[in-house]
Amino acid sequence: DSLFSGFSKTRENLAVIDELLLYWNLSDTDRVLDELEEALLVSDFGPKISIKIVESLRSDILAGKLKTGSEIKDALKKSVLQLLTSKGSKTDLQLGYRKPAVIMVVGVNGGGKTTSLGKLAYRLKNEGVKVLMAAGDTFRAAASDQLEVWAERTGSEIVIAEGEKAKAPSVLSQAVKRGKEQGYDIVLCDTSGRLHTNYGLMEELIACKKAIARAMPGAPNEILLVLDGTTGLNMLPQAREFNEIVGVTGFILTKLDGSARGGCVVSVVDELGIPVKFVGVGEGLDDLQPFDPEAFVNAILS
Ligand code: GDP
Repeated sequence: DSLFSGFSKTRENLAVIDELLLYWNLSDTDRVLDELEEALLVSDFGPKISIKIVESLRSDILAGKLKTGSEIKDALKKSVLQLLTSKGSKTDLQLGYRKPAVIMVVGVNGGGKTTSLGKLAYRLKNEGVKVLMAAGDTFRAAASDQLEVWAERTGSEIVIAEGEKAKAPSVLSQAVKRGKEQGYDIVLCDTSGRLHTNYGLMEELIACKKAIARAMPGAPNEILLVLDGTTGLNMLPQAREFNEIVGVTGFILTKLDGSARGGCVVSVVDELGIPVKFVGVGEGLDDLQPFDPEAFVNAILS
């Protein structure tokens, strides 16, 4: 399925582990673990996690708890799964019980924000959810047009800025109010993503968040940060900055189909303690998948 094919490049990187473990024997442990660590590093698990995993395997091997290559492989899968789930945070959307729920989508331009928002609308519509989109990227002229195309494609209603001077917080606040009045289930808010020294993106995002909360106490229910999966570990500083400033509740990792650096999924969850909620594994409407840690581990280390 698309989760498996979406991670095929990362899986190719990690396939060497199977060969290593097939011929593993006790006297060969150091060399095999060195190469296993290298395979994890190449797939962007990051040094901290790669060392942690390998050292835990080493101590279990030396203690006689792991006796065959396939036991080592299972232990490896288990420890990756544990890293993804130990923080206990929910990978599904937490939308509360009051309607509309508000999802704010943030992230820098080019990461796949608009595409993800469109795919998310499509997914929600298919679940029978009444979705209202809000074009909160008022900075980039083409952004509203692009989102309108997605609204049409998914049969969603959309609120766009009226007049050139309309500001993002007011567009989002209008959308949330309309969502409330007209009985929408979810308002999906796009935001600006322009990183530029003279432009206060973070200030604008804070203002957007406040405007949403004024229109609907308790909202936004989710603030999803879209991260470009092809950037691997380089996404970490960006994730930290967004989180410190707006408080991220979940990640959407895009373009993982084009990336052999899928291990970054594990490092971003471990470093920030925030769950990945969706992964983008292609350009089609269906290629935004809810993140399932177990399916992910099976896809990269089958
Ligand atoms: P934005 O500037 O953050 O809104 O980025 P866009 O949504 O316009 O996406 C930038 C490019 O990345 C587009 O060409 C998308 O089709 C592409 N893209 C987005 N998500 C994915 C994905 O999961 N896989 C692949 N292969 N391409 C993607």
